[in-house]
Amino acid sequence: METESCSIETLIKADDPDLVRRSAKPEGTIVDVNGIKIGGKEVVIMAGPCAVESEKQLSETAKSVRAGGASMLRGGAFKPRTSPYSFQGLGNEGLEMLQRARKETGLSVVTEVMDTRQVEMVARYADMLQIGSRNMQNFPLLKEAGLSSKPIMLKRGMMATIDEYLHAAEYLLSQGNTQVILCERGIRTFESSTRYTLDLNAIPVLKQRTHLPVIVDPSHGTGVRSLVPTMAKASIAAGADGLLMEVHYRPEEALCDGSQSLYPEEFGMMMEDLRKVAEAVGRSLHTL
Ligand code: PEP
Ligand code: MN
Repeated sequence: METESCSIETLIKADDPDLVRRSAKPEGTIVDVNGIKIGGKEVVIMAGPCAVESEKQLSETAKSVRAGGASMLRGGAFKPRTSPYSFQGLGNEGLEMLQRARKETGLSVVTEVMDTRQVEMVARYADMLQIGSRNMQNFPLLKEAGLSSKPIMLKRGMMATIDEYLHAAEYLLSQGNTQVILCERGIRTFESSTRYTLDLNAIPVLKQRTHLPVIVDPSHGTGVRSLVPTMAKASIAAGADGLLMEVHYRPEEALCDGSQSLYPEEFGMMMEDLRKVAEAVGRSLHTL
């Protein structure tokens, strides 16, 4: 019978980059965000709106995800939008709102940095920096963020292979930042019934080939609200160390990604199921 360790052998690649390869740290990396440990036994839930839109929107949404059991708040102040005419985010004002929501709820904040010139500023407000799918191979940004003392969540490029992804992560580690989390968020395929194709294979592949924690974003991975809870469960079953999910207190009014954002009640219900799945695979959800 093929054992787990046999299949691990087959995935280890001799030319995987030196710092991220599993053999560089066989016991695995645990990323610590204000005492929240990502990459250990507990599964960490990060939730919030796609974009920070207003004081009320952020505060209401943050309180609801906190009540539902999330440990971290997500929300972009700087948004990478396909059209230059779409809402681009509130910028620095959005960072201030995130800081207030953080104080109000006790949730740690993860927010996107898109530009080398923003790294210092965003790092002052964020507990964890997010590098988005579109910037996975923005090498100057990777180098600059790699110098930051804040943990970094690096999302997989929507058209990036795992090899390219590992090399992008290597940029961060090569600058001295060892607190790096990988996030599978769906890739482009021929399939058009969902926004992207959530690559669940990437979870065990990344876990076997690297020592970095792996989380999943089923919101962008599906682009469809009704599919998010199912794929969130599947992600935990497949070994994800955490989930990044979009929740909005009024999704129909969202300026960005409303159709993939969960209603707060749906989020709460899903969390009950996630707790059971985590338990079934020998894990538990992190609670604040
Ligand atoms: C996001 O999480 O806010 C986001 C823009 O996602 P991605 O970079 O995966 O498209
Ligand atoms: Mn979004």
